[in-house]
Amino acid sequence: LASRDFHPANTIIKIGDVEIGGDQLVIMGGPCAVETPAQINEIARLVKLAGGQILRGGAFKPRTGPYSFQGVGVEGLEMMAEAGKKHGLLTITEVMTPEYVDICAEHADILQIGTRNMQNFDLLRKLGTIQTPILLKRGFSSTYDELLNAAEYILAGGNPNVMLCERGIRTFETYTRNTLDLTAIPVLQQLSHLPVISDPSHGTGRRELVETMCKASVAAGANGLIVEMHTDPDNSMTGDGVQSLFPDQFANLLVDLEKLAPHF
Ligand code: PEP
Ligand code: MN
Repeated sequence: LASRDFHPANTIIKIGDVEIGGDQLVIMGGPCAVETPAQINEIARLVKLAGGQILRGGAFKPRTGPYSFQGVGVEGLEMMAEAGKKHGLLTITEVMTPEYVDICAEHADILQIGTRNMQNFDLLRKLGTIQTPILLKRGFSSTYDELLNAAEYILAGGNPNVMLCERGIRTFETYTRNTLDLTAIPVLQQLSHLPVISDPSHGTGRRELVETMCKASVAAGANGLIVEMHTDPDNSMTGDGVQSLFPDQFANLLVDLEKLAPHF
């Protein structure tokens, strides 16, 4: 079902006024994690002001170590839903377990499946039973074929609203956190009709590389970008402050992107 042979036309996922997979470049911006109502509200305001359409933010965080901040949980879903509504933004948040799919889907417009859960098959099967759009991140050691098979689980269950996300893979290079595989963008679009989103924040792990790799992703044909932005990245509650853009960088990036592809 994910294959372009089966479905030649691009899949366009329409949520409100936003069309993902069509001519419009879709920008998802926001913090790695939802922290407080004031934090998510202010960031939502800045995402909207810059011209972004979707607010990102994790209420449930998949952390490598068990002692790290794990996210604020259900309260974070509520904070983000409120900030999104107030500023006229759609929202996307990560869900990690099948039991939390319904409550996350009640609060967010799009559910994000993190790189570490790309092959959590029980979770994928559960996502097939709802109609909420899913952003499926590529596992950091997964092939294109494995990513497409993970998408297939969701599609086969009856949810056609799946977008694929390149977020960097693990290579021998240590300078960057991951290696953003730009080749994934045209390859996935050749093999599949599903929209392809690029995540240069996790793909590089370095703020100073994010803007360039956003532009490179758009040049490679990405249908959208998911970008971490924080008003106080040095004091953010996850380690992802180092890859989060400052608000003025985010705003300037969107001005530059407008020259490459319309994002409204
Ligand atoms: C995130 O988007 O903050 C995140 C944890 O992403 P990934 O699953 O790609 O590491
Ligand atoms: Mn993050």
